[in-house]
Amino acid sequence: MTRWSVRVDPAWSLQAWRETARLALQHRVAPEQLDWLQAGEASLLDAPALASLPTPAAGSAAIPVPQAFVALAGTCLCHSDPQRLPLLYRMLWRIVHGERGLLTNPADPDVLRAMALAQAVRRDSHKMKAFVRFREVPGEADAFIAWFEPAHHIVDRVAPFFARRFAGMRWAILTPARSVQWDGQQLAFGPGARQEDAPREDAREALWRTYYANIFNPARLNTRMMQQEMPARYWKHLPEATLLPRLVRDAGDRVQDMHDRQAQAPRRRIPQAAAPVAATRAGLDGLREAAASCRRCPLWEPATQTVFGEGPADARIMLVGEQPGDAEDLSGHPFVGPAGRLLDSALRELGIDRGTLYLTNAVKHFRFERRGKRRIHSTPQITHITACRPWLMREIENVRPQVIVCLGASAATAVLGAGVTLKEHRGRWHSLDDGTRAFATVHPAWVLRQGEGEAREAAYRLLRDDLRQLLDDRHGR
Ligand code: SF4
Repeated sequence: MTRWSVRVDPAWSLQAWRETARLALQHRVAPEQLDWLQAGEASLLDAPALASLPTPAAGSAAIPVPQAFVALAGTCLCHSDPQRLPLLYRMLWRIVHGERGLLTNPADPDVLRAMALAQAVRRDSHKMKAFVRFREVPGEADAFIAWFEPAHHIVDRVAPFFARRFAGMRWAILTPARSVQWDGQQLAFGPGARQEDAPREDAREALWRTYYANIFNPARLNTRMMQQEMPARYWKHLPEATLLPRLVRDAGDRVQDMHDRQAQAPRRRIPQAAAPVAATRAGLDGLREAAASCRRCPLWEPATQTVFGEGPADARIMLVGEQPGDAEDLSGHPFVGPAGRLLDSALRELGIDRGTLYLTNAVKHFRFERRGKRRIHSTPQITHITACRPWLMREIENVRPQVIVCLGASAATAVLGAGVTLKEHRGRWHSLDDGTRAFATVHPAWVLRQGEGEAREAAYRLLRDDLRQLLDDRHGR
């Protein structure tokens, strides 16, 4: 019996395997005559290469094969088991030699094995889609790299998913055996890489961890399912993995806490008493710490965290906004989203150093409505402003600013009183009871809502020109 050595390159390529298998079939080479070689391996039996056989003439009869087998072969080839190559050729041989319905026999050992291999590849592909985490490339705008260690040869198979999902980004996924890049137009595959070639961590991971910790529901914790769905071998790719031991450990206490809270009578009115605020440890740090667990109104529950004020404790100027937005809610810092960036550019134009200002909000939790996966800003009600006002008043007492700027109507209500409307009072100076000077202007988020073009420009000028009053040392006296 003549033996032939055969190599499929790359070993996971359906096209390469089909060409090899077709050549072997057309020369009537039986499965037991083939030595399947891995990359870089030589034939122990010194068998001649199958590829040395003449390629059948163009137009020679095609070999009909059920489509289901082609699909199964394409998936199995991505498995890392070297035995998949002889297995698939053996199945093909049987199909073209009288067992056309082979796949319909689920008890057949070859079918069973092929199904198991395909299942493992599908599972690995699913895990790659779920657990790849892109990290920003330092110094490059909108460029991301992910490191992943799949169990099988699935990079080519899964890459189109990422190209569709992240079509607008430039990204690369590096794995030990293969890499793929997307430039916004096409995929390019290359050799494997080292983990050091991928950035280790970027700022988004801190956001993601905060968000994950807040959406983690201890009442739904099932550690067995979790380990099944998120095997430990993938944990090193996941920023949230560092949180899991603590979240799992604390889950029991948190569930107990949820039970205790559910037992309370529903609160129909927001409590007005300032006692929980007044009782806090002195100083901004004490206030910040106490506000982190504030439950004075229902806004804390769906939000990620309390966003307390930030800035020098002796700032001369305090800016008060309405409430944190989506980016602030995730980061825990005020004015870091699009509205914050617009405010920054107005301050820069005026030569005012943001670092000298104390920035806070009238309401310390993000109020939003869910629309699909998006969280849309929702204006806080007077009840929320009233409930949160003690925190703001304590911030003012501690910082003792000379000037307070109210950005938007909610801030004006909290600082200047319910009757003060922006329409009538925008840009006008007020004196508070303790002598602090204050004025109200538009919120930078309102400027952004004016759309593009002249309307936005005019709104921006309004904000900037009102803020210009801060440059006057007399503060309108
Ligand atoms: S919005 Fe203010 S009052 Fe309401 S829970 Fe948050 S910190 Fe407390």
